[in-house]
Amino acid sequence: MTRKLMMCGNWKMNKNYAEAVSLSQLISNRSYKNWKDVDVVLIPPACDLKGVSNVLEFDHSPMQVGAQNCHWEESGAYTGEVSPLMIRDCGATWCLVGHSERRQMFGETDTTVNLKVKSLLAHGLKPIVCVGETLECREAGEALPFVTSQVRAAFAGVDARHAGEVVVAYEPIWAIGTGRTATPEVAGEMCGAIHECLAEVFGPEAGERVRVLYGGSMKPANVERLLAQETIDGGLIGGASLKDEDFAILVEAALKASTARGANRLKK
Ligand code: PEP
Repeated sequence: MTRKLMMCGNWKMNKNYAEAVSLSQLISNRSYKNWKDVDVVLIPPACDLKGVSNVLEFDHSPMQVGAQNCHWEESGAYTGEVSPLMIRDCGATWCLVGHSERRQMFGETDTTVNLKVKSLLAHGLKPIVCVGETLECREAGEALPFVTSQVRAAFAGVDARHAGEVVVAYEPIWAIGTGRTATPEVAGEMCGAIHECLAEVFGPEAGERVRVLYGGSMKPANVERLLAQETIDGGLIGGASLKDEDFAILVEAALKASTARGANRLKK
């Protein structure tokens, strides 16, 4: 089955309002109409969501906007949190869930990840669920069971009709922001195993619709080799998404990979 490639820029806690508007404008200026052939999602801090979505709307850009986090409740006494309704109101259609920085620094657990996934779907938003192992876990030979258990927990009780609306990002923690990338073979193998797990969770047909991205120091120098792995359906990019020229190179690489995959399929 053909899964549309997807490239997401996670700006983390970078860019104030003016900088976020300017960066989204620069990226939009570099984008061409064919960027619609890959789903491109800008994921700024919550306070910049509206500004970035206004730029994209004004430019009639095919790019989409995502939030980095949200609470699972619609409203209430949750100081410092934002709800799915609020991020949707600011123009977001996607939301990261369970990024390793949130799991490690802000107490996010498999249980809260699952609550957020269900709440986002119930409010018409699409979750990008981040999973990934620590270096200790990998060295102990536990990476695969650990990551698949995170996938199963995230989607527990989620109906298979939602499979086309959810995305998984495989992000080995040891590769995030470290400059150290998983080799294309390791990343491809892990994403392949996640696809198999998703086929068990949602059933083979629905499971095949879920995109699995790779994240962890993806940059212009390694993007082509990573996307040459057909089990990797795109990237979740941190550092390299903060420069418009680098991010544009990554999206162009995804467009090339998408064309190559189409040609390979025709040959088969
Ligand atoms: C991320 O934050 O999800 C990420 C992959 O960061 P980086 O690309 O900087 O490693």
